[in-house]
Amino acid sequence: MFMRILLQFPQGLKQFALAESAKFEKEGHEVFLSATPCWGACDLALEEAKKTGAQKLVHYGHCKYHEVTEKGLEIEYRLYPIDADLQILKSSLEKINQYKKIGVVTTVSHIHQLDEMKKMLKAAGHEILTSKGSLAIMDGQILGCDASAASKLAPKVDAIVYVGGGEFHPLGIDASKPILAINPYANESYFLNKQIEEKRKKQLGMLIACSQAKRIGILVSIKSGQFSLKAAEAAKARLKELGKSPSILVTGEVDFDSLKDFNSFDAYITTACPRLTDDSERIGKPIINMAQLPALFSLIKESK
Ligand code: SF4
Repeated sequence: MFMRILLQFPQGLKQFALAESAKFEKEGHEVFLSATPCWGACDLALEEAKKTGAQKLVHYGHCKYHEVTEKGLEIEYRLYPIDADLQILKSSLEKINQYKKIGVVTTVSHIHQLDEMKKMLKAAGHEILTSKGSLAIMDGQILGCDASAASKLAPKVDAIVYVGGGEFHPLGIDASKPILAINPYANESYFLNKQIEEKRKKQLGMLIACSQAKRIGILVSIKSGQFSLKAAEAAKARLKELGKSPSILVTGEVDFDSLKDFNSFDAYITTACPRLTDDSERIGKPIINMAQLPALFSLIKESK
């Protein structure tokens, strides 16, 4: 049966959209491409699907993140595996020579190579452990907002190895063990503990700044997997009790210039993507996430 289909690609994979679109069109389907920015499976193009009358939404590059039921809309998640050259893993082995038990994590793009990674590490004499996260549903997979597959392993291993592009994912790892980031794209590997510690200190600084702020903007995203109005309302009520002036800011996409245009807030709390805390420089104000709320409330109470 021919359908109206909306294809959605995250940033980095949009370049493959036309080729995928051609396959569906060849089968006789009517295809639309979502052009809005997309960073995760937390962000399904439901509104575009509704407006175009699509019967099916195909979301590429991520696996299921949250439960979504939209009447008349079928949602399919299609992984987009990318083969990374694992030669760099081999040449990085000397850096973890002294560690016996190794925890391995990667992103959804390379999860199909996890067995190969484990094999290489085993061949070098290591004992390999993997784990499952809470939002990241595949064994060994981490997300920007869920690196618990690595953190859970920390007490059981001597070091953690992350294989994948960039630092965004491994910077979310909360572990006291050495963390070796192996980047097959940049053909480099290095321990990331210093950067993680710097990030932790920066977050602590922002938490303190947020506790001293008077006017606080609470960000709510309407993205399907980020929408958390109830949590924002609860935070607002508590902040009011504590003598702050909170406002709830609702948005589809957090636009830093748009936030600056308010020229009204001393600090922000994100109920949307928790990694918005990485963007404090672009926002120009301290920003904390929901996981830091209990600490924020305690700090405000203590300062009274
Ligand atoms: S909430 Fe943020 S980190 Fe988590 S999947 Fe969405 S964009 Fe990525």
